[in-house]
Amino acid sequence: MDDKSSDDWVKDMIKAVIFDLDGVLIDARDWHYEALNKSLNLFGLNISRDDHIVTYDGLPTKRKLEMLSMDRGLPNKLHTFINKMKQVYTMELIFTQCKPTFHHEYALSQLKKHNVRMAVCSNSIRKTLDLMVGKAGLDRYFEFTLSNQDVSKPKPDPEIYIKAINKMGLTPSECLIVEDNANGIKAAEASGGHILKVNSPKDVHWDNILTRAKKLGGLGN
Ligand SMILES: [Mg+2]
Repeated sequence: MDDKSSDDWVKDMIKAVIFDLDGVLIDARDWHYEALNKSLNLFGLNISRDDHIVTYDGLPTKRKLEMLSMDRGLPNKLHTFINKMKQVYTMELIFTQCKPTFHHEYALSQLKKHNVRMAVCSNSIRKTLDLMVGKAGLDRYFEFTLSNQDVSKPKPDPEIYIKAINKMGLTPSECLIVEDNANGIKAAEASGGHILKVNSPKDVHWDNILTRAKKLGGLGN
């Protein structure tokens, strides 16, 4: 053994940052919550704020509806209609409320300056993902984005992160994944990538990303 501390042996250079979208780059968790409830309310159903935080947050709508059928007797034949209405209400909210955020723009431009590659992995459908990334003005930073329609199993399965890491031709230890909720973190952990856990999009800023990357071994290609 030489005099290197054991920490030195696990240091990894971060070559890519992979962002979750909802609750990370976009404050859309409430929009999804509100839009789904508005659709469920048409049939007298409602997801409480507590149930949302503990159980449903971060899952795709399809999965949430399956759970509501199992637990609360929502007829399966209503899934398609509720899903359609949820998408209409979500689009309305994105159009009126989604806009660029200065500290995200700054963080991503700094990452680009440091030659760090960037991608998005989201449990949202493609249409919603594209609209949100575009309205937030961040589309030009990403090499690619993956929606829940690009994988066979959404988060908490790690498939979406494994696919992104492979697509970049990197190893998991060269990637930092920014996630905000339990289902997303479960997926990120199982992919083998490093994780920066945030509580809200407010935590996603340059200092935070840089500090985490430095601890892991640095930033850049
Ligand atoms: Mg999220």
